[in-house]
Amino acid sequence: MSLAQRWREARPPVAGVHLDSGACSRQSLAAIDAAVQHARHEGEVGAYVAAEAAAPALDAGRAAVGALTGLAGSDVVFTTGANHALDLLLTAWPGERTIACLPGEFGPNLAIMAGNGFAVRPLPVDDAGRLDVEGAARSLAADRPALVHLTPLASHRGLVQPLAAMSEVCADLDLPLVVDAAQALGHMDCATAPAAIFGASRKWIAGPRGVGFLAVRPDLAQRLQPRLPPPQWPTALSVLQRLEHGEANIAARLGFSVALGEHLAAGPALVRERLAEVGRMTRTAVADLPGWRVVEPVDEPSAITTLVPTGGADPETVRKRLIADHGIVTTYAGVERAPFEMTSPVLRVTPHVDATDEDVARFVDALAAVSA
Ligand SMILES: *Cc1c(COP(=O)(O)O)cnc(C)c1O
Repeated sequence: MSLAQRWREARPPVAGVHLDSGACSRQSLAAIDAAVQHARHEGEVGAYVAAEAAAPALDAGRAAVGALTGLAGSDVVFTTGANHALDLLLTAWPGERTIACLPGEFGPNLAIMAGNGFAVRPLPVDDAGRLDVEGAARSLAADRPALVHLTPLASHRGLVQPLAAMSEVCADLDLPLVVDAAQALGHMDCATAPAAIFGASRKWIAGPRGVGFLAVRPDLAQRLQPRLPPPQWPTALSVLQRLEHGEANIAARLGFSVALGEHLAAGPALVRERLAEVGRMTRTAVADLPGWRVVEPVDEPSAITTLVPTGGADPETVRKRLIADHGIVTTYAGVERAPFEMTSPVLRVTPHVDATDEDVARFVDALAAVSA
């Protein structure tokens, strides 16, 4: 059986066509069952006893994040999502607060940077918004920020940024690289062992909502100063334990851990290859649709296709009508997703590995109908 068939059969039957994995993928029955079983176990033995019993499964989830990021399971903490992870990290940042990042940086990340008192400066990019690695190396050497933040795959566009090359630049300059892998994990190779990396469960790994992770390399972890408990208070907790401290939905962490295990079992390289293929299939199918322009080059190795209206269609209305009239789920992305780069809202189409030619053909027909 192909990867696509196995992925689809592991899930509840889809109602309509799901082209919204960049927002939230469809969970597998095994991930759903893990969360359900844990909730039941909490009801039987008490939640804190159940949490102790779940510890090995959660460690396996941390180890899987480690394997996918080039770090160790012991470097990983669970969070409630990607934004929460970045906020935890920046709140604990020691010393100077300056960041270099792409001009197309994710809007909510920019808000978290500003909210933590960080001054942001842009990295150089080409006309398409792709990082100019040599230019970045020069500007970072000339004017060193406290950290470099890279979102290798964005929310508003499916361009793959050169993560490996940027990792080398940062290593050469001895600058900490922080990676937003919310779209990148399970989608492109993230095993570059950056100073810190964070992401979400629900996107390409297809775990439940409300959970994510932050992984911090030990050399950075030992410098961090978590805000709570206050650094001058005596505490036996490690830096990572302090970052993870607090109330948590253990059932969701278990569902995420199972989804990570399924991703590793499916073969991350095969998944990446198939996601690139469905991206190409989607862009080819929509290329000649009147009233829309495709943002990414057809062969861009990602499953994210972004459509800009050229004939006056409103992506927000189009998304609603695709759901209501055709049972097709896509994403509306407003300019707040990348406030320094986007000039108009877009429609984002994000199939997972199971997308078929028929799914894409149904989408193309429906899009033509609702934007006529
Ligand atoms: C979705 C997303 C986030 C935010 O993730 P949450 O889990 O909702 O906090 C951050 N960065 C990128 C690139 C995203 O796509």
